[in-house]
Amino acid sequence: MARIVMKFGGTSVAGTERIRRVANIVRAQAAGGNEVAVVVSAMAGETDRLVNFCREANPLYDPAEYDVVVASGEQVTSGLLALTLQAMGCKARSWLGWQLPVKTFSAHANARVDEIDAPRLRESMAAGEIAVIPGFQGVSEEGRITTMGRGGSDTSAVAIAAAVDADRCDIYTDVDGVYTTDPRIVARARKIPYVSYEEMLELASVGAKVLQTRSVSLAMKHNVRVQVLSSFVDDGAPPADTLPGTMIVSEDEMQKILEESNMERQSVTGIAHDKNEARVVLTRVPDKPGAVADIFTPLGEAGINVDMIIQNVGRDKGETDVTFTVPQAELARAQALLEDKKETLGFNRIITDSKVAKISVVGMGMKSHTGVAATMFKALADRGINVQAISTSEIKVSVLIDEDETELAVRVLHTAYGLDAKDEAA
Ligand code: ADP
Ligand code: ASP
Ligand code: MG
Repeated sequence: MARIVMKFGGTSVAGTERIRRVANIVRAQAAGGNEVAVVVSAMAGETDRLVNFCREANPLYDPAEYDVVVASGEQVTSGLLALTLQAMGCKARSWLGWQLPVKTFSAHANARVDEIDAPRLRESMAAGEIAVIPGFQGVSEEGRITTMGRGGSDTSAVAIAAAVDADRCDIYTDVDGVYTTDPRIVARARKIPYVSYEEMLELASVGAKVLQTRSVSLAMKHNVRVQVLSSFVDDGAPPADTLPGTMIVSEDEMQKILEESNMERQSVTGIAHDKNEARVVLTRVPDKPGAVADIFTPLGEAGINVDMIIQNVGRDKGETDVTFTVPQAELARAQALLEDKKETLGFNRIITDSKVAKISVVGMGMKSHTGVAATMFKALADRGINVQAISTSEIKVSVLIDEDETELAVRVLHTAYGLDAKDEAA
């Protein structure tokens, strides 16, 4: 007998028929005598619809009221799943964020899980009742409803798994695992049976939206066993967790798996893209000590996350151009803030471009392989793709390119690093 948290994303609960299929998968897990908690997202497209209502009602909406609106999507699916399970003869009840409670802190619309003190949830699970929990939502210190940022149901699931000390946290979605890149872009992307927390964290943070970044860091912190798998299975199929998905494992476990299978680690494990960045160029910034600190300190203080940075070699007259990227959603705020300080910063112009994309290659193998960045630059150059900015970490190289070239770049790199699946017939 095991204690299992199962999470189902938006496409998995996108209507009553899909919810019935989910209920079947849940019932199969519970029937084996397991204790089960289920975390659900809102129906696919529902959160976008609710966000739009908020924008229509008030473009400068209050994030606390936004949370009241957008959290409702998950409330609907949790109630519907509990009803469907009951119709199948299972004992089930819903637990809303404030009922557990899922205590969160920090900003509305982007809240972080503080703690989940769930003795009643554990009791109810131990008594054989299936707990159905709306993802994405929590409650603030002031007792108001909060939400955890887009894709936040993954984080809810991992936080609940940690709180109930679950044996597994199964994340069911519309693909059957984590792939070498988004399988919707590269048909030859391959499923990765095991990926380390570190690699998954990096992949998620550079745009692989299959898991929310915070869910991975939380899983790593609390050692939660996370598995990604598909909910799109036939009614008669064996329980989905007997089919291989992707298991997120510790680096030690990964080493063992590689040794046992006699496999060498490739330099690149996966490729991700992110179209939500924007590029900012400040021209003719004074080329003197302290100039860049004066630019980036106020941005940091305003909570604007600057990612890639390039400072050109100084031109004549002691001036230089500074290029950097910020999330597209923060661009207007960053621009206003810098315009405000134009006199003191002494730059000439701000040029911005939202039609950019960040392409990243990620892999633990980079620590021991050389030439990873060179392969990337050459493969892109061969296709005439211009690199506008570069950033690196120990296990990642990212480049900024024209947004229109995103799909081409991902495909070209996938081939260049030998990640393409072989032909079935081969
Ligand atoms: P859910 O609604 O279940 O949370 P998401 O849409 O948030 O699902 O995440 C699943 C999607 O993530 C997939 O449909 C796929 O297009 C995308 N994705 C991006 N990168 C990857 C990757 N490396 N492996 C698998 N899926 C990926
Ligand atoms: N429904 C929320 C969203 O669309 C949370 C989630 O699905 O994880 O972002
Ligand atoms: Mg998601």
